[in-house]
Formats: sequence, C-alpha cells, structure tokens
Amino acid sequence: MINFTIGPVQTDAETQKIGAEQIPYFRTPEFSAIMKENEKLMCQLFDAPENSRVVFMTGSGTASMEGGVMNFFSGNDKVLVVNGGSFGHRFVELCQIHEIPFTEIHLEYGQPLSPDILKEFENKGFTGMMLQLCETSTGILYDMNMVGDFCKRNGIFLFVDAVSGFLADHFSMSEMHVNAAITGSQKALSLPPSMSFTVLDTEAQRRCAANKVKSMYFNYADYLRNGERGQTPFTPAVATLLQLNEKLNRIVRNGGTQYANKLIRQRAEYFRARIKHLPFRVFTPENATSNCVTALSPVGESVSAYRIFEIIKDEYGIWVCPNGGDLAEKVLRVGHIGNITEQEIDSLIAAFDDLLKRKII
Ligand SMILES: *Cc1c(COP(=O)(O)O)cnc(C)c1O
Repeated sequence: MINFTIGPVQTDAETQKIGAEQIPYFRTPEFSAIMKENEKLMCQLFDAPENSRVVFMTGSGTASMEGGVMNFFSGNDKVLVVNGGSFGHRFVELCQIHEIPFTEIHLEYGQPLSPDILKEFENKGFTGMMLQLCETSTGILYDMNMVGDFCKRNGIFLFVDAVSGFLADHFSMSEMHVNAAITGSQKALSLPPSMSFTVLDTEAQRRCAANKVKSMYFNYADYLRNGERGQTPFTPAVATLLQLNEKLNRIVRNGGTQYANKLIRQRAEYFRARIKHLPFRVFTPENATSNCVTALSPVGESVSAYRIFEIIKDEYGIWVCPNGGDLAEKVLRVGHIGNITEQEIDSLIAAFDDLLKRKII
C-alpha cells in the first residue's frame, strides 16, 4: 500500500530501525539527556521565545488539545475559537466540556480568516484565542501573522494547534506572537502515532502554574517540574521519544524548518501541477492552502468522494484520506507529509487517470 493520508504517514528507514529495537528503561541520566535535547530542538524548530518549555504528552494530538484547554484557561477566561472544520469544532467541544467561556468564529469549510472577520472582535475583552495553523479537514492555512498581530494588540493569549501544519508550513512562535503550540508524532514528524508535544512560552508556563487543574494525567505543572530533570511524570512512549530525537537531529542537520517546509512544499506543488487535467476542484483558495494536504472535490455532481477513496484503496493499493461528517461524499484529501517519493505521486496520478478512463470520475 502507498499511504497518502495525513497520519499515520509513511515513516523513514531511520525511524523504522529504532522501532525494531528493544525499549530501554527510561528513569536514567542517559534517557534524561535525550529528553533535554528533545526539548531544546523542539523549541528551536518552533522558533520559540527564550525560556520556552515542552510538555511531552503520551496521547495523540487531541490529548494535547484537551490538555492545553485545561491548563491554559479557566472559567475566568473569555476565549475566541476559530471553527472552520472538524478540528476547530473539536476546540469548541473542549470548551464546552471544560466550561471555558468562549465565542465561536464560525467559518464556511475552506474559508480563510480575514481582517474584516477579526475586526468585529477587537477590544471586546477576549483573553484567549485558539485555532489551527492548518485546518486539516479542508487544507485551509490560516494567516497566523495576522492572527498573532491581532492577539498582541488585544493582549490575547494565543494557543495554536499546529499538529498538521508544523514542518509543512512556515511557523514561528516568536514571529507570530504564539504563546503555546502543539504538534503530533504521526504527522510531518513521520513517527508512529502515540505522542503529542506542546511548546509553552513563559506566559503559558505561568498560566499552568496558576491554574487548578482537576486531573492527574493532564497536570502540566507536574510535567514541567519533571521536565527540569529530563523526565515525564508517567511512563511515556519511550520508543517514540528516541525516534523523535533522531528525527529532530536529522532535520536540524539538514537545514531546519526551512528545509522541511521546502521538501513538503515541493511535493505539494508537484502533485497540484499534475492534477490540473482531472475533474477535481481544489477545495481551498490557492493563496490559503496548506502544503500539508490538498483537499479535492469531484466536479461531477453524482461522483462520491468516499467511493473514490474505496476504489483507490481496494483496486489500486493506495490510501488517500477520506473526510468524515458533512464532507464525506464531497471531499477527499491527499496528504503531502511523510516519506513520499515523486514516483509514488506518479502512481496516484496514474490511478486517477485510470478512474477517468473508466468514467468513475
Ligand atoms: C491530526 C490532527 C489532530 C490530532 O488528531 P489525533 O487523532 O488526536 O492525533 C489535531 N489537530 C489537527 C489540525 C490535526 O490534523
């Protein structure tokens, strides 16, 4: 099978090699040193402000979305949530569950965020804002410089879900005035699913210390305390953390986020240039599309996007990514993260061409 989904994605040979080894015991100075390096490299790749820290959470990206909501915010906050797809909607649900007062900015699927939309929320006493860098359900890339300026102007704490956008699109916590941001192991880092990572600036750390979190496993103050000695409060996904260390070092050695962004952007451009003759519409505006993923809508009214996913899987041995919910029949997605070659992209195009010949699309 060739995997064009958005996670878990195809891993590198170096990652697989570490995964084949025995799991070492982790309450040791040797493992602590690896963790301290993981923290340093993660802060570097997020371009985090000085004295930032990292919470290493065993749990998929959603665990860190929930952990962030619980640790950064309380009932005294007034939070703006951008909901332009299923991940934005997840932040809405988390605010409801944890009783965080919030206002939703509801966008159409694939609609960019604009200064006009934000204008309405200036000087309204908001204390926090949450949104995705890339809303993976549609591939929309939000203008994070614009959002960061808005938050800075209004004294708003900015928490960004960069789970899919990290390494795929340009992202800098310092430049974009981001207080906390997350990514996950199975997206562009191309590691097995199991962990997610939150980078916290000093304000985010202060919020964690001040908050009374009603949870043992999601108590970030505890993670930060343990992290000072390169440890986590509970047993982490040890193998993933070793794979993370190798991957972060390799990215930095090759030129850092610029190198990672370029690799993924070139892959996205290669794919997008080769589908122009196919009866698909790219779901997002060209200047607001993430490099992480291309969401495609079949032009033919009666063509089911979900059916295309099934046929490509069963008859061509390729996974593309179906959509859930309202978009299941209308949108399918092709991911550009993970270890994917141009040859593999050519195979997918050939499969689409064949569907065209068979009059399926
Ligand atoms: C994948 C993803 C997540 C996390 O999903 P999990 O299934 O919990 O790993 C969160 N946000 C975005 C934008 C994502 O793409």
